[in-house]
Amino acid sequence: MRPVVSATPALLASVAVGRPVRGEFTYLVPEALAGTLAPGQRVLVPFGRGMALGFYLGPANAPVEGGVRLKPIQRVLDDSPSLPKDLIALLRFAAEHYRHPLGEVIRGALPPGLSTAVDEKAAKADVQHFAEALVTEPPPQLARAPAQAAALQYLLAVGGRAQLEEVAHAIPGARETLKKLAARGLVKLVEVVLEPGVREGLIQGRPDRLTQEQDVAVQELRGAIDAGGFQPYLLHGVTGSGKTEVYLRAVEHALAQGKGSLVLVPEIALTPQLVGRFRSRFGGDVAVLHSGLKDRERLFHWQALRKGTVKIAVGVRSAVFAPVENLGLIVVDEEHDPSFKQDEKLRYQARDLAVVRGKQASAVVVLGSATPALESLQNARAGRYKLLELKNRVDDRPMPTISLVDLRVERPREGQVTEEAPILSPQMLQAMEETVAKGQQVILFLNRRGHSTILLCEVCGLSLKCHDCDVCMTHHRSQNRVVCHYCGVAFPVPDRCRECTGPLLKLGIGTERVETEVAERMPHARVARLDRDSATSAERLTELLASFARREIDVLVGTQMVAKGHDFPGVTLVCVVMADTSLAIPDFRASERTFHLLTQVAGRAGRGKDPGRVLVQTYNPDAEPVKRMLAHDFDGFAKQELEWRKALAYPPFTRMAAVRLEGEHPEQTAGVARFLGNLVGRHMPPASAGVRLLGPALAPIARIRGKTRWQLLLKAPTHAALAPLLARLEAALADVPSGVKVVIDVDPGAMM
Ligand code: ADP
Ligand code: ZN
Repeated sequence: MRPVVSATPALLASVAVGRPVRGEFTYLVPEALAGTLAPGQRVLVPFGRGMALGFYLGPANAPVEGGVRLKPIQRVLDDSPSLPKDLIALLRFAAEHYRHPLGEVIRGALPPGLSTAVDEKAAKADVQHFAEALVTEPPPQLARAPAQAAALQYLLAVGGRAQLEEVAHAIPGARETLKKLAARGLVKLVEVVLEPGVREGLIQGRPDRLTQEQDVAVQELRGAIDAGGFQPYLLHGVTGSGKTEVYLRAVEHALAQGKGSLVLVPEIALTPQLVGRFRSRFGGDVAVLHSGLKDRERLFHWQALRKGTVKIAVGVRSAVFAPVENLGLIVVDEEHDPSFKQDEKLRYQARDLAVVRGKQASAVVVLGSATPALESLQNARAGRYKLLELKNRVDDRPMPTISLVDLRVERPREGQVTEEAPILSPQMLQAMEETVAKGQQVILFLNRRGHSTILLCEVCGLSLKCHDCDVCMTHHRSQNRVVCHYCGVAFPVPDRCRECTGPLLKLGIGTERVETEVAERMPHARVARLDRDSATSAERLTELLASFARREIDVLVGTQMVAKGHDFPGVTLVCVVMADTSLAIPDFRASERTFHLLTQVAGRAGRGKDPGRVLVQTYNPDAEPVKRMLAHDFDGFAKQELEWRKALAYPPFTRMAAVRLEGEHPEQTAGVARFLGNLVGRHMPPASAGVRLLGPALAPIARIRGKTRWQLLLKAPTHAALAPLLARLEAALADVPSGVKVVIDVDPGAMM
């Protein structure tokens, strides 16, 4: 076959189309645009029967075969490219690696305003106009100006100050009227320019001196930034060792060299302190990118970074796509955190993409954590990352002492089993009392929300399950309801078993229950709870954390939200109510995750001048993660766990992909699962390639929202060995009936 169009390759353009279609498309470059296109520019292209948003990627070199008539690019939508070069390369990698349509990947990375087929407009800063009354009542001179009198009356009635918009809404024509009032000196008009996305953090100063370990790390990073070029580091620093200060100094250095920095954090709302530290150090040079931004703010930040007027981006996982100019440094804080994996649409792992981006941008990459992911640790061991260690806390503060309360021996129930058995052992209560009496603070950690997590029939033993999901309903006493944590359905608490009408026992404790017990047993203490139920908005969350920081709360009970990188110097006691909750989860990372959570929450104790201690209640004192965290033994834990992973061929020693199915009809879903299983079987490479298929099997949670769930797991020594199979699977998805949804999840996070 011969090419239909014999244009020179330079006049052909490769374009990603912002639609859910795979691959890159070839378009003709019209004469008028020849030589003017730059990769990363948004263009308007004919697609199907209409027009679509496209992204110009570069000249197309492969002549198109077959009877396809090439169409020309219609129009260019941006003056300068919306995407910098290194970002295009990253997005291409992400589309290929995570099996997602490139156009969708690019569109998903762009802010609103650039992700639709419209011309680029500069985002407006948010300017608000206020009118302030300068008098307390209308003076007699207004008697003959009733409109002005009315506007002033309104302003006074609402407290002397209001937005112009609001006054104009209440009193037609008030904008003009207020100007006249201002001319008479009765009203002042004020303009407030709000910087998009600005959020106040807690201001902290710059320490005069680095610790010796910090200094070594900073020197190394400076050297690497000066040298230029890609260099990944794993910064393994114990909790409270001052990792953030290392990041700040590295960012400072990059900035001094005119280079931009990108800092990724797990959840901004949970760590306002970190944002505060960046803001107080770099002021307006920081764009803070979080999920609560308004469209306009998102566009504003994008454009500012793109133009290089703002050089530092601090943000959550999606900020890995922020268009930082002349990128010199990428930091991933708390790199072990599971929230870096996105579990919808483009199922990317931002930590991994950060490293890829560093390579493409020739930047220094720092992955920091007190509990590095085994994947990262293995990369350091294999010499792919350089290891930087901070083994001591700042100011030689001691690590907290950790002790166990063996719940098999120390039953907190004082001999009697009641519906509401106590859950705090005498040791724990005593430690809490002592701490609060000294004016210090306590964190109580339990990784389950709600009051009781199981309602069990005393007669037939059935537990109350959701109608639509294969999980138990959780009792939320404050709402007087039982709630399914998977689909959100809620109904009044039944007092009898659905099957046999037997009485229901409330078993399994949640944070709400812990909070109630603390309040009952320590009536003098100020108790609060931090979990998804209490922190219903970003504002509420910030307020709770700020109030704990101001020491208005003595005991903070919470889920893993309390285990994040908080730095509360008043906390000297951390109690783990039950260390066992995350051990039994059917996931090969359950043990690692337990170790991380326990170590992280323990690390909240003793960060100020007073030493900290940690009490851990458990039924499994011999479980590996419990034993190792007790001994502050990350290395021992990692060594053991890595051996186990190697023996059973799990990451980091293999690459995985999960194929997840979800369907209305159990039979049909099972059928599709078998079909995909057979397909993989037929195309399996020779045994020497080491590719293995597990399943198809029902997922650990076999039903959610009434849908049956199946999964296939693929393992291989390298991603390259998996890629051809994944491509086959993806191609086969077109034949899957619409009642069954199939997604391919490369490098999966949670296995549920
Ligand atoms: P990590 O992130 O390693 O847990 P942080 O970066 O939060 O630790 O630092 C712990 C505390 O020590 C913070 O309050 C921080 O301001 C303080 N800090 C960090 N470096 C220094 C230093 N060189 N001198 C004095 N205080 C420091
Ligand atoms: Zn449900």
